[in-house]
Amino acid sequence: MNSIVDSRTPSAVADAERWTAHNYHPLPVVISEAQGAWVTDIDGRRFLDFLSGYSALNFGHRHPKLIAAAHAQLDRLTLTSRAFIHDQFAEFCHRLADLTGQELVLPMNTGAEAVETAIKVARKWGYQVKGVPDGQAKIIVAADNFHGRTTTIISFSTDDDARADFGPYTPGFQIVPYGDLTALADAVDDFTVAVLLEPIQGEAGVLVPPDGYLRGVRELCDRRNVLFLADEIQSGLGRTGMTFAVDHEGVRPDMHIMGKALGGGIVPVSAVAASREVLGVLKPGEHGSTFGGNPLSCAVAIEVIKLLETGEFQRRSAELGGLLHEQLRALIGRGVTAVRGRGLWAGVDIDPSIMSGREASEKLMARGMLAKDTHGVTVRLAPPLVIEEDEIRWAVRQLAEVIGAA
Ligand SMILES: *Cc1c(COP(=O)(O)O)cnc(C)c1O
Repeated sequence: MNSIVDSRTPSAVADAERWTAHNYHPLPVVISEAQGAWVTDIDGRRFLDFLSGYSALNFGHRHPKLIAAAHAQLDRLTLTSRAFIHDQFAEFCHRLADLTGQELVLPMNTGAEAVETAIKVARKWGYQVKGVPDGQAKIIVAADNFHGRTTTIISFSTDDDARADFGPYTPGFQIVPYGDLTALADAVDDFTVAVLLEPIQGEAGVLVPPDGYLRGVRELCDRRNVLFLADEIQSGLGRTGMTFAVDHEGVRPDMHIMGKALGGGIVPVSAVAASREVLGVLKPGEHGSTFGGNPLSCAVAIEVIKLLETGEFQRRSAELGGLLHEQLRALIGRGVTAVRGRGLWAGVDIDPSIMSGREASEKLMARGMLAKDTHGVTVRLAPPLVIEEDEIRWAVRQLAEVIGAA
């Protein structure tokens, strides 16, 4: 059935390459259907999804409750713009404020827009509340960060691919090494309005900071009257075994930045949540989005938050993540040089003398498992949180066989 002659994949791959900008280097698979942790391609082959749309699909593909919420809302109301209020808006904001322990919520669409919102709000807070002289606000970020693709955000990227030839760059950012509290403390000055961090760096290879780092950032920010902006776009909403990655250190940031899984894998939904003192600096006309907080987005996100309120997905990620990490660690020294991560989220470094992360991802694909490399040697594993124990065991066995450890 899957003979080369009958396969529709090669020409579909060629078409996709022919008609699009080459800003991605996708694996040569053309997906047409999905359910739960599995996707099916146009040739009828099934693959276990170990990427989950970079954690946009934490609840799996087409979770029945999320699909039902989307269908019901499509039949009633899809868009009003924020010029008017709709009947899903308050419930979404209220539930998300409760989930984060914050007072106010501002919805947007993509992750990058939520990060831009955080930057604008922090600067405004700096001028209006902290009293930083006009135009002097400084935001401290970490090396190897990933916060999105806008011109301001790539201005403080340390990844040459993301940054080169896109200048001139937005000033007002200082970069310090990730996980280094002393370097961070040294960088804070009277003009510093915020520290913007991923609690676990995803694109950098699922880098978990040293124990106590996030708590230390919290204490430093309290001491120096600086906002702690936590980019939980990839690490949040159950991925690490708790609702947010900062929860592992019992830390509440001044702002939660959320995206990806908030839209349930159906619509782009992002948001920031913060105190009244912080988000209250915005007045009508100063910031906005045509689609942000639209009825369809809110209806889906309300259902996402309800799923998280059950605690089931956090529990699955913690328990099954324990199994995943235990099994992956057993491969260290047998083709794997390092394993990092938390919950159902792992960065696996492949010994470069055996193969690259890309080669490993291609070989996994040939065996029915979809994962993606990052930064040369790392394969990133982040299955939907609905994955089953035997599927995890099967997936690690595929990886072991691909790198010759089985
Ligand atoms: C994906 C991601 C973003 C950007 O989100 P988009 O929806 O792609 O704009 C920002 N920060 C982190 C940590 C991410 O993983």
